[in-house]
Formats: sequence, C-alpha cells, structure tokens
Amino acid sequence: MADLSLRKVKKVYDNTVVAVQAFDLEIADKEFIVLVGPSGCGKSTTLRMVAGLEEITDGEIYIGGRKVNTVPPKDRDIAMVFQNYALYPHMTVYDNIAYGLRLRKFPKRVIDQKVREAAEILDISELLKRKPKALSGGQRQRVAIGRAIVREPQVFLMDEPLSNLDAKLRNQMRSEILKLRQKVNTTFIYVTHDQTEAMTLGDRIVIMKEGFVQQVGTPQEVFHHPSNLFVAGFIGTPQMNIFDAQLIREGERFFVELGGLRVELSPEKSARLLAAEVDSQPIKLGLRPEHLSLTEREDAVSAVVDVSEMMGSAVHIHVNACGQDVVIVVPLGEEEESGSMPIGMPVRFTFRGSAAHVFDPETGHNLEYPKTAEPEPEPEPLPEPAPAPLQEPQAEESAGEPIPEPSPEPAAPAEPEPAPLPKAEAVTVPEVVIPQEIFDDPVVPPLGDPFAEDEENL
Ligand code: ADP
Repeated sequence: MADLSLRKVKKVYDNTVVAVQAFDLEIADKEFIVLVGPSGCGKSTTLRMVAGLEEITDGEIYIGGRKVNTVPPKDRDIAMVFQNYALYPHMTVYDNIAYGLRLRKFPKRVIDQKVREAAEILDISELLKRKPKALSGGQRQRVAIGRAIVREPQVFLMDEPLSNLDAKLRNQMRSEILKLRQKVNTTFIYVTHDQTEAMTLGDRIVIMKEGFVQQVGTPQEVFHHPSNLFVAGFIGTPQMNIFDAQLIREGERFFVELGGLRVELSPEKSARLLAAEVDSQPIKLGLRPEHLSLTEREDAVSAVVDVSEMMGSAVHIHVNACGQDVVIVVPLGEEEESGSMPIGMPVRFTFRGSAAHVFDPETGHNLEYPKTAEPEPEPEPLPEPAPAPLQEPQAEESAGEPIPEPSPEPAAPAEPEPAPLPKAEAVTVPEVVIPQEIFDDPVVPPLGDPFAEDEENL
C-alpha cells in the first residue's frame, strides 16, 4: 500500500517521439486508477515508467513518499501483470506462483502459505498441480495475477490484463478484478483501451490522447462533465451525438438552439457558463443517445428513422437529423417486445437542458469549464468507437523484455499541481514501433522477471 506522485513526468523516445507529455498526477493510497485511451496514447509508457521499465525523460515519480526515478524495478515494491500472462510452461501452477518468492529466498513454509492464500483468493486451489497448458486463458491469467499477489506489493500495475481473453471471459474477469481489489486492498494502476473497463473498475480515470492527459476524474465526472469533445466521444456507449448548434445567452439564462428547437439549460449549467464568461456563440452540442427522447411535440427536432437495433432492454434507433446520423436509445418496458420502427418513418426528438453539453467548436473545450491560461488544443475529431475487445492491435509485451536502467535524474523540487486539462501544442505521434512478438504457443514463457532478484540464485 502506498500513495504515488507523478510530477511533470514526461517521456520522449529517441529524442523525437513524445510518447507522454509532462503531466502531474497524485494517486492516493489504495486508490484504483485506470489509464485509458486509444492505442498509442502513452498509457503503457506511463505505467512502465512507474514500474521502472522505462526511463523517465523528465519529471519525478514518488512511491510511498520515496523518489524512485533511479530505483530499479525490483526495488520499487511493485508487481505488474501484463497482457501476456507470462507463465513458465514447464512449471506447475504452484511453482509458477511460488517462483518470485523462491528467488527472494522466502522460507518454504511462508511460500506455501502465501501460494495457497493467493490460490484461494483467485479460486484456483484445485489447479495448483496443473501445468499452464492444461489451463484455460482465464485460469492462466489468474495464475499470472497470483504470481503478482504473493509479492504483496505496495503498488499493483496491470497492463491490459484482459486483452487476450474472449468477450465473455473478459466480463467475468472484470468482476473478478473488482473482487480482487477488495481482497488485496492495495494501490492499483490499470491500463486499458476499453472505456467500459475503465468506467467499471476505476475510482478515478485518466483519459489520454496522443501523449496528453485529457481529463482526470471519477467515472461520474468524466461521463457527466467531459472536459472536451474527445473525452465526450470516448466515454460512453453508444457514443455521444455531436451537433452544430447555437448557444444563446439572455441575461443570466442560457439556451441551445438545434433544428428549430430551443431548450433552456439547467440553472447549474447556466451558472457555470456565466462564471466562465461565455456569451452567445456557435457551439458543438453534445447529447448522449440515452438523453434524447422521442416526442410528438411540434417544435421538436425532426428526424427520419434509418435503422433500429434491438438490444434487449432498449432499442437503439439510428435516425437522420440535422443532416447527420444520430442515435437515440429508447428503453423498453417489461411488456414491450419490440420497439423497432420502420425505415423511413418520420419521428421527432427532444432533450432536457440538464443533458446538453456545450463545446467550443474551435477548440473542443467544454465551455462550462473555466478557460485555461494556456492555449487550447486543435479541434479534435471524434474518436472511432472503442474497438471490440478481441481486436486490440497493441504491441504484445512479455514479462521478459530487456529492462533499461534509468539514468540518474537531477532532483529538482516540484510542487504537485492539479491534474491538467487539455494541453496546447499538437504532437506528431507515429505508429507503434515496438517489435511485435508472435507467440505460437499460447503459454508464453517469461524470459526473465524484472521485479525479481537475480534469477541465477534460484
Ligand atoms: P499505448 O499504451 O497507449 O498504446 P504506448 O505508451 O505504448 O501507447 O506508446 C505511446 C507512443 O510511444 C506511441 O506512439 C508508440 O509508438 C511510442 N513508443 C512506444 N514505445 C516506444 C519505443 N520503445 N520506441 C519508440 N517509440 C515508442
């Protein structure tokens, strides 16, 4: 258990690729933090800097109050679980879990107790004598987590631990991780590209894009108060609808106008816009599909049904409105069997002022947020919908990569600052260049354990 402090932490690869722009983040003891964003946004690099697997170009990292910039991974008191559950194929589950403890020369009795406790937590006590080949993907991932649990680390790092599992198993393991978190009760930093995983697991979520931290907040905060268009589009499924619209200010009241419909914003929103000194202006209006409602009202926004998708408890109606595709989620009552609507059917929809998100069309900045002193980023195109769980194109990593030793950093005192909102200059982030390893054998043998003592002492 430990708190973490990341101060102006930055990573530049080969003097050219800015993988992570300087940012500050304070992580409380026992907090579960999720780093989330599209592939290549810098989340793994950030995690690997905390682990000590990647040298920090600039800034400082503190774990439990101790500056660890030059501390090697094995002395940081952390454990890491990777996407590839790196297990030794020739060892039993028991020996795989015990491995790190044996390296550290723990007494046999202690090792036995810890292995059995971890197996109990992970519900794999029955499998201790098996070899990894005789396990399912989910079971292997549990063993990999077991290897990390027995270390009783101060900080638990997880890099896309569920990416290799199929959708059903992934959902199951997600709730397992929630349970694990209750039992292990330590500080977690978890990396994923999947916003659902981030929303369900994180106490707080750090949303990244192209090396920039876009927003840090609780799932509720980032969902209800996205700091910019990127976060608005990335968090929530189906994706938020974005319209070109108009913001009207009348004294201290604010209205949005869309397709002939005028809706007054809630007093809370108006108060924030007033405080931010916003005036009437063209906006990007964000409306979540579940916040649009079909209506008979004459003044509502006109639309034409394109297609309707039956999702069980709701119907997702895709319509054409204001010259663009719009999704409306219509919940279905218990008795309703089908809420589908014929293609070409004219409908109307409306929305409440409390559900409207107003963004600056130039910068993508949420106008309810105070203007930052720094210039705003370039307008953001909306992200592609989150990729399906099995299509993760990210580079594969094994626990046995060579570990660069971080070079000594000058100790420059820096005050922690609040988490930054979107930063200025755009960076060019090239495609992933990490060599892709293709493992034919589903059981990937770890080539070395970066968090263990000298392996030759085994
Ligand atoms: P994510 O985990 O969000 O997918 P990464 O942290 O792996 O992203 O990568 C961030 C950026 O840094 C990407 O543009 C990637 O190509 C680049 N990058 C990652 N590792 C290296 C490396 N070893 N050398 C050069 N560039 C790298």
